[in-house]
Amino acid sequence: MTLPSIDAVLATVDDPEYPGLSIVDLGLVESFDVADGHVTVGLIPTFSGCPALQMIADDVVSAFESRSDVTGCTVEWLAGPVWGTDRLSGQGRARLASDYTVVLRRKDGTLRCPVCGSDTVTDQSMAGPTRCRSIAWCNECRNPVEVMR
Ligand SMILES: [Zn+2]
Repeated sequence: MTLPSIDAVLATVDDPEYPGLSIVDLGLVESFDVADGHVTVGLIPTFSGCPALQMIADDVVSAFESRSDVTGCTVEWLAGPVWGTDRLSGQGRARLASDYTVVLRRKDGTLRCPVCGSDTVTDQSMAGPTRCRSIAWCNECRNPVEVMR
């Protein structure tokens, strides 16, 4: 197995919270290597409390161990660097906005509505559907918007 093909396999592993969005697009993949057919993948968590982490690790292992040219796979959760929204790919950002109405906070703290493009989005509650996300509300189109922290 070659390093480019490892990258290609990783791009087929979706985040369980965002089907259709790969862990590569989400910026979780920090490093990978192969030695004697054993693949080692270094991932960084988006948020240390996310219950999806074990599912992601399991999905990565099964994606590799189903291949005949891989003898085994180890996933390591790295302590650093810290995940930030700047690690998302352009495709990742676009998909989050269009498919999940999830937006990223701008550097100045403001939010842009992924549905109508309005800037009049206000934070509602810090308790979102998961600890990674909070809920905001668009004053223009009156849609709830999830904010990725
Ligand atoms: Zn809106």
